[in-house]
Amino acid sequence: MAQTERPGTSSRDPLLLCPCVRLLYVQLRERAGAAGNEIALIETLRDATRQSYYLAMGVSWTLRSKHLPQPPHGLALAFDVCPKEYLAEKNWNPGGSLWYDLGREAEELGLEWGGSWMQRDYPHFALSECACSAPVAGSLEA
Ligand SMILES: [Zn+2]
Ligand SMILES: [Zn+2]
Repeated sequence: MAQTERPGTSSRDPLLLCPCVRLLYVQLRERAGAAGNEIALIETLRDATRQSYYLAMGVSWTLRSKHLPQPPHGLALAFDVCPKEYLAEKNWNPGGSLWYDLGREAEELGLEWGGSWMQRDYPHFALSECACSAPVAGSLEA
């Protein structure tokens, strides 16, 4: 697979995450980092052309990905991250314990985690819909 010739575009810019999800990403990164698990942001927003390509490559399973521009702000509601410790490992060490630590933190924050899907997608974290106008779990101090 030619890395340089992939059709469409995608970004790893956190500013292309919906503000509600961006806040949760920052919180997840801080929580994981405090536990010694530094994470790298891999991908945020992608376009429909790139999504179709991922589908064809078998690395995504839906054309309704939350990485695509989502209402109401036209930004991504999903992001992919990887523990920095796993970046050099084969396929990012699927099933490694750091993934489960990360998944647990994310679910506490109210994020969906791809690692708990039938077809596991460990790096994937998302909200099913924009929560910018609603209090997001974990975002408010008690
Ligand atoms: Zn993803
Ligand atoms: Zn939002």
